[in-house]
Amino acid sequence: MICDNLSIVNGQLHFAGQNTVTLAKQYGTPLYLLDEDYIRRQCRVYKAAFQKHFGPGAKPLYASKANAFRRMYQIMTEEDMGIDVVSPGEIYTAYSAGYDLSNAYFHGSNKTDGDIAYAMDCGVGCFVADNREELLAIEAECARRGTRQQVLLRLSPGIDPHTYEAVATGKVDSKFGVAIETGQAEELVLFALELPHVDLAGFHCHVGSQVFGEDIFQRAAVIMLEFIAHLEHTHGFKTAQLDLGGGYGVAYTEADPHLDVEEKVAEVAAAVKKTCTRLGIAMPEIHMEPGRSIVAAAGMTLYTVGAVKRITGYKNYVSVDGGMVDNPRYALYKSAYTCYLANKMDEVQDFAADVVGRCCESGDILQPDVMMSASVERGDTLAVCTTGAYNYSMASNYNRLPRPPIVMLHHGESYVAVRRESFEDLCRNDM
Ligand SMILES: *Cc1c(COP(=O)(O)O)cnc(C)c1O
Repeated sequence: MICDNLSIVNGQLHFAGQNTVTLAKQYGTPLYLLDEDYIRRQCRVYKAAFQKHFGPGAKPLYASKANAFRRMYQIMTEEDMGIDVVSPGEIYTAYSAGYDLSNAYFHGSNKTDGDIAYAMDCGVGCFVADNREELLAIEAECARRGTRQQVLLRLSPGIDPHTYEAVATGKVDSKFGVAIETGQAEELVLFALELPHVDLAGFHCHVGSQVFGEDIFQRAAVIMLEFIAHLEHTHGFKTAQLDLGGGYGVAYTEADPHLDVEEKVAEVAAAVKKTCTRLGIAMPEIHMEPGRSIVAAAGMTLYTVGAVKRITGYKNYVSVDGGMVDNPRYALYKSAYTCYLANKMDEVQDFAADVVGRCCESGDILQPDVMMSASVERGDTLAVCTTGAYNYSMASNYNRLPRPPIVMLHHGESYVAVRRESFEDLCRNDM
């Protein structure tokens, strides 16, 4: 199976050691499940690999846009993980969960004046500034408060990570960051160094997401370090921190490779050390920002099958009680997923159908051409695997559908971490 937290017992799909058919009955569908033990394990794997290969100052930061709610930030506190945040809403959620925001890095390509002030109110440790306007706004807010703010600059190293266009972020013509190649990055560094309330700690890059390319991170690191060495040699500026972003790919189907995090971190560390030696600079404190690779395989979504439509000579549809509202990724990026009929795992899977949602959109497809048992019928439980990243965090209320709850699986027990939205919740702000 695509992840080691999946198994089959008596023809039924088990996840994190628990029966998904029973969980679907107990909590209702659609239902997000999250394997808490898997999330904690991934945090520990990243942390151990960082300590081992980059040394004590290095740290992994959980990119919380992958899946953000209070319990997640508590788990990150308990696992002693740094975090990335990208909006005041994420900052509020982390703050209200008791997360110490001095360990947070604030990203985003257009932070408003209000965002900047709110992040400072909440004590966000480091801002990752994307552009000149943002640097000026940070400087102005600090001047007003009489404080200083630690800042990284987001640079674009000019690398094509060969992932989907929509999630490639490190190319020269990207909307994110400042290009090194055009000389604009160097100009902005010199500008930042003149700002009295901005502490320029270093640089950040993020080449993309769902990246499997052999040497993408090493290439990005080399380009960033060459820039860092250039700054040191020509302007005497010493870089304290280098953040190499997130993006490691995860296996959604049998066709995807499995990345070994420890091995990947070791490869990047080897390239970083070698390059620093070649350039004659001290190794900066290295950070990375995994999101997907921490939470994706910790997730599963359960649905109940409604209609089964057999259009003779054309195709078949299996409709479920959720869809693009709780998982818009196929509609957005044509993302592949593995689906199972959780209560019919032992039957021959010789029936091909598109698994579709209940929204009034032809594009509301969870996954096309899924093979399953021909006995599929109303009431069956359908599981979509690897939905822990960018599902709940991208969910909407289109068609006035309430968002599903998140149930955490921990040490063989389950508990609700986010409750199911009610109809009242839907009308909460309606005057
Ligand atoms: C989205 C994002 C990440 C996380 O990417 P994953 O593919 O989920 O690992 C990290 N850093 C930045 C700046 C991001 O925008």
